[in-house]
Amino acid sequence: MSTDTAATDATEPAVDVPEGETPDPAAAATRVAADFTRLYGRAPEGVWAAPGRVNLIGEYTDFNEGFVMPLALPHAAVAAVSRRTDGVLRLHSADVDGGVVQLRVDELSPLGDVGWAGYPAGVVWALREAGHEAVRLGADVHLSSTVPTGAGLSSSAALEVVTALALNDLHALGLTRPEIARIGQRAENDFVGVPSGIMDQTASACAVEGHAIHLDCRDLSLVQVPFDPAAEGLRLLVVDTQVKHALGDGAYAERRAGCEEGARRLGVTHLRDVPFDGLADALDRLSAEAEEHVVRYVRHIVSDDHRVVRIAELLGAGDIRSIGPVLIEGHHSLRDDLRVSSPELDLVVSASVAAGAVGARMTGGGFGGSAIVLVDADAEDAVTKAVAEAFAEAGYGAPRVFPALPSAGARRLG
Ligand code: ADP
Ligand code: MG
Repeated sequence: MSTDTAATDATEPAVDVPEGETPDPAAAATRVAADFTRLYGRAPEGVWAAPGRVNLIGEYTDFNEGFVMPLALPHAAVAAVSRRTDGVLRLHSADVDGGVVQLRVDELSPLGDVGWAGYPAGVVWALREAGHEAVRLGADVHLSSTVPTGAGLSSSAALEVVTALALNDLHALGLTRPEIARIGQRAENDFVGVPSGIMDQTASACAVEGHAIHLDCRDLSLVQVPFDPAAEGLRLLVVDTQVKHALGDGAYAERRAGCEEGARRLGVTHLRDVPFDGLADALDRLSAEAEEHVVRYVRHIVSDDHRVVRIAELLGAGDIRSIGPVLIEGHHSLRDDLRVSSPELDLVVSASVAAGAVGARMTGGGFGGSAIVLVDADAEDAVTKAVAEAFAEAGYGAPRVFPALPSAGARRLG
């Protein structure tokens, strides 16, 4: 695999949404199309957007074939794309230094060292591998994203899904949204080499404005659950701690192994199959024969699956406020049983709840990243201020706070 300019791996994309402003992908479309035209010397055939996401509830449950409930953010990757005819793939991001990355579709192979370009290139590879011969013609791609990177908000899935949707539309591949999500996951797992579930790409590809997705990670069936905090005088905030503790892979693999051991000892293929009303018995049995951490992991997974179901019921009944205590319970489970929180995330939760938040919890894989906070709209400022003060007092850098408006999934903009 060759690049005509050195691919930039270490460079973190710059995200410049002014503090307090909600990004508008449609407004970005014009700029991204104009930049494409300047860069490649012709107008793009189209412009597409795919959002980042936050997970409302259901953490580490995906690989246990359980439930998750993500929602899409207004923050999105926006890509202008044109087909080519010579088998060349040119990729450019407005957000990283390093110029255009040029590859040949026929030569794409997994785990090459192409840095950020691995996400869109991985999608082209995954489509090629799935037998969609048309992508062999190549493409020109220019993109720009407002999804913060490495904050647990899935900037990588946004890149994958926007690329997959654009190529699906341009080549009339006829893929469904869930199939687009699976192409993105395949790119991330097998081309880039990051083990991850299907949640992020599903949220980005399938989200509906004003809804969260109740996703069953066993059969990938999904239900759109109404979720519109503003209609109930509430706000869901994302608090990005801007801290990422070197975790990570080791801790993730260790949690995964512990869950697998728990399932094996309980005689099920996945912890999804341990019913919540059988949890106490299961924990009794496990305590007698397994190490203490396995007992904790099982308690988290089975109870978090149950929390997803409870929250789905509450949202279905139009009662957003009542999910607050369930979110807090979920945080305690991640902190005490799965042990994947961080001091910063714990502080977001304790400070916001002390200042009157309805609920709060860390979201995503943990060890840093972001938390979500559910607040009454008129308490938003007080809670935001309380968290900022608590961070300053603890000597932490200022967190970044923005509203998580449940937004539309991937779409064509022009
Ligand atoms: P997350 O998905 O949680 O934000 P990841 O580590 O999975 O974190 O993905 C972040 C990576 O995705 C970045 O390091 C970069 O390679 C790529 N990426 C995200 N946004 C952009 C962008 N706007 N331009 C180029 N690359 C990006
Ligand atoms: Mg990611």
